[in-house]
Amino acid sequence: MQELHDFFAKDLRSLPMPELRKDPIVGRWVIIATERAKRPVAPKPEPQSGDGGFCPFCEGQEDKTPHEIIAYRDRNTRPNEKGWRVRVVPNKFPALQVEGDLHKRGDGIYDKMNGIGAHEVIIECPQHEVTLANLSEENIREVLWVYRDRLVDLKKDPRLVYGMLFKNVGAAAGATLEHTHSQLIVTPIVPISVWEEMTGALEFFNYRGRCIYCDMIQQELGAEKRVVLDTPNFISFAPYASRFPFETWILPKNHNSHFENIQKTEVDELGTVLKTILLKL
Ligand SMILES: [Zn+2]
Ligand SMILES: [Zn+2]
Repeated sequence: MQELHDFFAKDLRSLPMPELRKDPIVGRWVIIATERAKRPVAPKPEPQSGDGGFCPFCEGQEDKTPHEIIAYRDRNTRPNEKGWRVRVVPNKFPALQVEGDLHKRGDGIYDKMNGIGAHEVIIECPQHEVTLANLSEENIREVLWVYRDRLVDLKKDPRLVYGMLFKNVGAAAGATLEHTHSQLIVTPIVPISVWEEMTGALEFFNYRGRCIYCDMIQQELGAEKRVVLDTPNFISFAPYASRFPFETWILPKNHNSHFENIQKTEVDELGTVLKTILLKL
């Protein structure tokens, strides 16, 4: 435990700059961040537990994380103190660093740039809960709204072009803390898998003059074979070419390209959809 404590007390500014290196064969960008190897590793096979163990994400432990970027708080409470409902902090062991220039450069056949970007942690609730599905719909809505708030803010940074929200749950997935949380990584490059998806959608559009996602929604609603949930603004279904068991997509029925354009009423509905899907899973 003491080891964990020391790492959380470490000064972020002393970390060496991570690097983005491009694989010259497949064109994939890889983050080289040696400092991340030092992040806390639980002595047990499962992540840090709340039963008596130390959890830096629980309410009352605000001084154990870097200073908050944003938090939804009860009235008359102060930043980095109790009274928050959802809280966003920089990752203590960032894969990318927010300060500095990209400094794109070549080294023979290799391309690289400084590992500039944002790496944030969204602490989804103040109490020690390990499952997002157990949170109230209102709580889940605030988590979704803070995703939107952070994407809108980071979009203003001209160095950054892509944002990815993700959750690792359980030791096998690489989670080092069990308190329910998500992460946001915003990068100066578009990941190759996303590039392939965008190119595929563009090719479909160039050929048929229609949006592949809108077409897919129409077909799935008609076939009713793979639909998991159908609500006024969202559809959830198992994709035709699923890569793993229980793969489930949630798509907005209205044609829209950016999550951060979502409206408040849609977030309210999406909170219900997400909780329902997670409970079904
Ligand atoms: Zn906790
Ligand atoms: Zn569409």
